[in-house]
Amino acid sequence: MTTSLWKSISPQTGYPYLTEEIEVDVAIVGAGITGITSAYLLSRSGKKVAVLESGEVAGGTTGGSTGNLYSMIDKRLHHIQSKWDKETAGKVTRSRTAAVDLVEKLVQKHEIDCQFKRVPWYLFSETNEKDLTIEKEMRAAADYGLEAKMLYELPIPIKVSQALKVENQAQFDPAAFVKGLAANCDPRNCRIFENSPVHEIEKGEIHVLSTPHGKVRAKNVILATHTPKGIYALQTAIYPYREYAIAARLKSGEFPEGIFWDTEAEFHHSLRSFSKDAEQYLVVVGGHHKVGKAEDNQHFFDNLEQSARKYFDLGPVDFKWSAQHYKPADGLPFIGESPDERIYLATGFSTDGLIYGVLSAMIFADLLNGRENEWVSTYDSGRFTPVKSAKEYLKENIQVMKEYLKVLPGTSDADDFSEVDAGEGKVVDHDGQKLAVYRDEEGEVHCLSAFCSHMYCVVDWNNAEKTWDCPCHGSRFKINGEVIEGPALKPLEQKDFTS
Ligand SMILES: Cc1cc2nc3c(=O)[nH]c(=O)nc-3n(C[C@H](O)[C@H](O)[C@H](O)COP(=O)(O)OP(=O)(O)OC[C@H]3O[C@@H](n4cnc5c(N)ncnc54)[C@H](O)[C@@H]3O)c2cc1C
Repeated sequence: MTTSLWKSISPQTGYPYLTEEIEVDVAIVGAGITGITSAYLLSRSGKKVAVLESGEVAGGTTGGSTGNLYSMIDKRLHHIQSKWDKETAGKVTRSRTAAVDLVEKLVQKHEIDCQFKRVPWYLFSETNEKDLTIEKEMRAAADYGLEAKMLYELPIPIKVSQALKVENQAQFDPAAFVKGLAANCDPRNCRIFENSPVHEIEKGEIHVLSTPHGKVRAKNVILATHTPKGIYALQTAIYPYREYAIAARLKSGEFPEGIFWDTEAEFHHSLRSFSKDAEQYLVVVGGHHKVGKAEDNQHFFDNLEQSARKYFDLGPVDFKWSAQHYKPADGLPFIGESPDERIYLATGFSTDGLIYGVLSAMIFADLLNGRENEWVSTYDSGRFTPVKSAKEYLKENIQVMKEYLKVLPGTSDADDFSEVDAGEGKVVDHDGQKLAVYRDEEGEVHCLSAFCSHMYCVVDWNNAEKTWDCPCHGSRFKINGEVIEGPALKPLEQKDFTS
């Protein structure tokens, strides 16, 4: 089974689940880096806050990330310069730098044990095909005062054509940081509830959030759920992708401190190391596909392992995991108030969201305290950018339209339960219905409606994680139908069929 390194090694939290009806100034849904940093800043500014988390603190994407903190961005600063303009790219860089600095300040202030370190960030190309990208990114970094220089070799055993090095970026254990910060929210103002999934939000003058055993009434709501829960028009402008990670002990040699991004490898790898109990682990992240659109998810882990072993002497893979990101159509995240008054959202972070999550919290803390925030217009959640978004918007939404054709009969993986082997899941056309059928190792059949509870797309089987994943907006479900992540609030409907 898949488990992230950070989730496995960080201490258990043990917050209670919600069992009563309470009223607060701000209800925060989600206890990843966005939710907990928001809770920290708001509770310390005097706001009464409740955090509702369906699983555990840092148990979502934050605990499945790589733990790198940088002012640069995955989709490249020079693309923001050309798609938007130099001023916008400058604001992105400066706001991200401010968020990295805040993380450092909080780690120092509360002595959070998360191995925070300032390290260099490298972007490299193995052949000269991507030299131009590296050169453009070098100029963009220099434009905004980052300490950047060009290299022709790296301190790791991968031969490069060119590499960009930016000093003074950072790395940490993301789960340990978020748990440490949660412990330092103002206890007079902040209550955190784990295992308290919000399954309904009744919008009004006072919003009411329902969980299985309790309710929160709040004037303001922050949907710190990585993608907003429910149906929002901006879901057509953010696209869900899954990405894969492995961690293995280095048997010989040492991996230097730093964030290493390959522009070119088939899977656009990101490499870093992490030390625990005198052992050094290599963490390799890469390989991505649209949620619900991989023929064989397991194959992504195998590829990461094979390519890492080409360069490094590794022991067995101790941890492997996968996590999700939401790519925005116009290159910038959406942070701010939603069309529903006093409901705030933060999404479209791509794979840069540890920093965008902290930045969202800084923005929310200012907005909810009536303070000016210099970044708010850059990430305006209500923006409409048809020209900047057109290419991605058309490509991704045509794909979504095609997914809806799968509601038609005769488009499923199988026509009979007998075609589903033990340990396997398939969408089966049965008696005029589309069913998501999983047969466990003991032969028992688990049967759900194959229609996603969010917007009725047909879900797809994920063989590496044994989940049902929706290719339209990224909702994911356990084999018992429970929501794991994505915009869905309700589980997949149980169907009582046996075979
Ligand atoms: C493989 C990978 C590597 C990455 N590496 C990096 C990196 O090195 N640096 C970087 O900056 N970014 C990285 N990112 C991106 C980054 O991890 C995310 O953008 C960031 O963690 C998002 O944080 P979040 O708090 O918004 O969401 P999450 O951490 O996903 O938190 C959302 C929380 O909401 C909870 N939730 C959802 N629905 C409900 C509900 N109905 N009720 C209650 N709770 C609910 C979830 O359980 C979850 O805990 C990476 C992403 C991926 C996929």
